Amino acid sequence: MKTSGTAIKKILIPLLFVTIITIVYALVFTLSEFADSPYSSLKDFLVLAFQWVSIAVGTFGLLYLFSINKYVFAVTFPLLVTFSTFLAYFRYTVNATLTPMTIELALINDLRTNMQVVSWQLIFLMLLAIAISVAVVWLRWKKVNFTRPLLHLIVAVGIIFMTNSLIPQLKRPLTQRMPYSIYYTFKTYFEIRDVAAEQRDTFTSEAVADSDSLVVVFVIGESLRSDHLQINGYERETTPYLVKEDNIVMLTDIYTEACFTHTSVPHIMTQADSLNPQKAYNEQSFVTIFNNAGFRTTWIANQESVSTYAYFMNECDTLIYVNGSKSVYTFDKWLDEDILPYLEDELQDSNPTQLHIVHSIGSHWWYNSHYTDEFERYKPVVMSRVVSSNTQEEMINSYDNTILYTDYFIKNTIDLIRDKKAILVYLSDHGESLGEDGYFLHGTDRPELHYPAAFVWYSDKYAQSFPDHIDNLKNNSGKRYRSDYLFHSIIDAADITTEYKNPQLSIFR
Ligand SMILES: [Zn+2]
Repeated sequence: MKTSGTAIKKILIPLLFVTIITIVYALVFTLSEFADSPYSSLKDFLVLAFQWVSIAVGTFGLLYLFSINKYVFAVTFPLLVTFSTFLAYFRYTVNATLTPMTIELALINDLRTNMQVVSWQLIFLMLLAIAISVAVVWLRWKKVNFTRPLLHLIVAVGIIFMTNSLIPQLKRPLTQRMPYSIYYTFKTYFEIRDVAAEQRDTFTSEAVADSDSLVVVFVIGESLRSDHLQINGYERETTPYLVKEDNIVMLTDIYTEACFTHTSVPHIMTQADSLNPQKAYNEQSFVTIFNNAGFRTTWIANQESVSTYAYFMNECDTLIYVNGSKSVYTFDKWLDEDILPYLEDELQDSNPTQLHIVHSIGSHWWYNSHYTDEFERYKPVVMSRVVSSNTQEEMINSYDNTILYTDYFIKNTIDLIRDKKAILVYLSDHGESLGEDGYFLHGTDRPELHYPAAFVWYSDKYAQSFPDHIDNLKNNSGKRYRSDYLFHSIIDAADITTEYKNPQLSIFR
C-alpha cells in the first residue's frame, strides 16, 4: 500500500504543481486579453469560456514542459512571468497588445522614447512578478520532483502539439494570446523583416514623371462591397458625402480573384494577373516605379503588417503605423480618422510629386470598433463577437455604419488634397458576406466577396491638366475590370512613362 501510495504521490505532486501555476497564469494573464470581449448571451459567454479553457490547456502543456527540468524552469518561468506582466500592464492600461508593429516600434525608437512608457507602477509590478516567480522556482526545486522525465516530456510535448497544430479552431486564438502569442508574434516579426529585406529587382528600366507636381493618394479599402454604397444605388444613404462630390467616378464592376487581405493586397500592388499570380510574391510593386520617377512615397498603415505585403510597405520612403498595437482581439475603437494627421503631415513634404498609400481598416469585422458613436445610424447593431449570436439585420446594420464612417473618412481625406493637383484612387481588397446562404465575413470563397468597391476622385486642377484621363475614366466606369487594372492605372494616373505600364489595363485610356 505504502509503495503504491508513494508512486501516485510522485505523479500527482508534479501535476498538481503545474495545474496550480497554469490556473494562476490563465487567471492573471490570459484573462487580461478577454477583458473587453463583447458577448450578449450565456451561449456567447460559454464560447469565450471554452476558448479561455482551451488556451489554459495549451498553457498547461508549455508550463509542464518548462517544469520538468529544474534548471530550465529557473530560467524560463521568471522570464515568462515578468514579460507577461509587462504585456498585461499595457493591455489593461492602454489596451495595447504585442504585435509585430509594436516590436518594430520598440526596436526603432531610441531608448529615451521607450523609457517614456515606463511608469513606477510598471516597475513595481515587474519587481513583484520577479519576486513571486522566484518563490515559485524555489518551491519547484525544494518540493517537486519529476521522476521519469522522459514520460513527462512526451506528455507535455503531446499537449503542446495537440493544441497548437492538431485542432485548427484552437490554433488562432491560442497563437494570439499569451503565452503563445509572445512566440508567434516574434516569429511573424522576423518573417516580415526577412521579406522586407528580400532582393527583388523587377523594375530596372527608367521611369519618368511627366508632371512636375502631382499628388496621388491610393486608399486600400477593407471588406467594402460595391453594392452597399448609396452612390452605386444601394437603398440606404450610406455615402452622403460622396454623392455630393462632383469629381468622383465610381468603378461599378471590378472583379477581384482574391478574397483575403493577405492575398488581395499583394495582387493589387504588383503586375500579378491570372496568368502570373506568383508576381504578387516575387516582384516589386508600383511603389518602386514611383520612386524611380522621383515621387516621394509613403505608406500609412492602419492595419497590421503581413508578410505577403510587408515588402511593399518597406519599398516606400516612409512607413507609418497608425494604431500599431491593435490586434483582431482588441475591441475598443480603431478608427481610420487616426490616419488623417499623419497624411496631412506627409502632404507638407517639399517634394512636389508624392504617392501616399493609405491602408485603411474600413469595414473590418468587429464592425463597431471602426466607427464612432455619431455614425451609429442603423440599429440594432451587433452585440456579440460570436458571429452566429447576431442576427443578419444586426450584422448589416453595423456593417452599413462602417460605410457611413468610411464615407466621412474619404471626404476628410479629399479635403486635404482638394486644392492640389491631386487624384485619389480607392479600391477595396475584397467584399464581405452578409448572410447570403448563411455566410458572413470573408472566410470562405463566396460570390459576393469578389466585387469590391472602387472609385476615383480627382481635383479640379487634375482635371484641367488631364482632361483626356477624365473623359476616358468616365467612359470606362461601368466596364468590367479585374483588379489587375490597379497597377497600370495608378501609374497612368501619376503621368509616369515606363515600359512596365500596359495601357490596355488602364482605366484612363
Ligand atoms: Zn481584407
